[in-house]
Amino acid sequence: MNTVIYFQQPAELSQALSYFDLSSFQQKKVPIKLHMGEEHNKFYIRPSFVKDVVTHLIDLGASPFLYDTTVLYNSLRKRVNGYKKVAKNHGFTKETIGCPVEIDDEGIPVIVQGHEYEVGTSLYHHDHVVCLTHVKGHISTGMGGAIKNFGMGGVTRQSKKMMHQGSKPLFTPESCTYCGTCASVCPFNAITVDETSWMVSTSCFGCGVCVENCPSDALTYQLENLHFLLACSTKACVQGKQVLYINDINRISDSCDCDSTAKEIICPDVGYCISTDPVAIDHASLRLIDEQQKDVFQKKHHVDPYQQIRFGEQIGLGSTEYEFIGL
Ligand code: SF4
Ligand code: SF4
Repeated sequence: MNTVIYFQQPAELSQALSYFDLSSFQQKKVPIKLHMGEEHNKFYIRPSFVKDVVTHLIDLGASPFLYDTTVLYNSLRKRVNGYKKVAKNHGFTKETIGCPVEIDDEGIPVIVQGHEYEVGTSLYHHDHVVCLTHVKGHISTGMGGAIKNFGMGGVTRQSKKMMHQGSKPLFTPESCTYCGTCASVCPFNAITVDETSWMVSTSCFGCGVCVENCPSDALTYQLENLHFLLACSTKACVQGKQVLYINDINRISDSCDCDSTAKEIICPDVGYCISTDPVAIDHASLRLIDEQQKDVFQKKHHVDPYQQIRFGEQIGLGSTEYEFIGL
């Protein structure tokens, strides 16, 4: 059975890591997959904590580097050099953190559950990885945790596009009562409904919120539920690798680190979790958040954040049965 270690202060990181046998990380080049924050976002992971993790890996004899991929939407982070500029502005440089920063824009295809995912080339070629995640709310998945970090962040823009488009709504007029619920919950105002017609615009981002909230089963996914595709994409990124997951469950904001307009903290700080299982660590993180502020993500985004975890367990990515140890 896998273990999730929970601690509250960054100073307890070494003690928490001592529960894991990391000897195989010695002499390895280790990508630390993380999100270094969209321009103007205020809540992304703190460089000081990232530096603590990097220092620990270097002390262990590993050669870590910070790692992420370019994004789909229009942003400086859409290009490698633009992302590096944002990373530098946010305090992520070799000089400040103690290891290089690498941004990938290309990938290697991996098939999971019948869908092809282009895993970032450098991520694909390394067999020891650290997944360092700031846990927060997310407009499409309720919560952004370790599964979201790899599932969307570990693959190329082409695969990101496939996942978003695959979860766009298909409309069945015979089932629709024109109640307007889908239009009211759509975070991108992409749906227009009146008494006799239903339309979706090009602003649809494929988040699937309308499909989940339609009371009449009039909407379905073009391909699959985004949560399912994310769990499969995560599996494509990590299968066959030794991965250590660290969740930073503090500054729990309403929206993702890729949202330059994320506005507020919606739950008091929780602390940190470490595990070798992405399903277990996201499940434990959500349980800890629920203890502080029950259903905070569901209430904010009308999305069940446990979906990605259930799908992850279903495809063998990890387990919700784990030993939970608090320091
Ligand atoms: S929520 Fe469903 S039933 Fe209501 S308008 Fe939208 S598609 Fe039609
Ligand atoms: S999938 Fe998301 S963005 Fe697209 S119409 Fe539905 S709720 Fe709006």
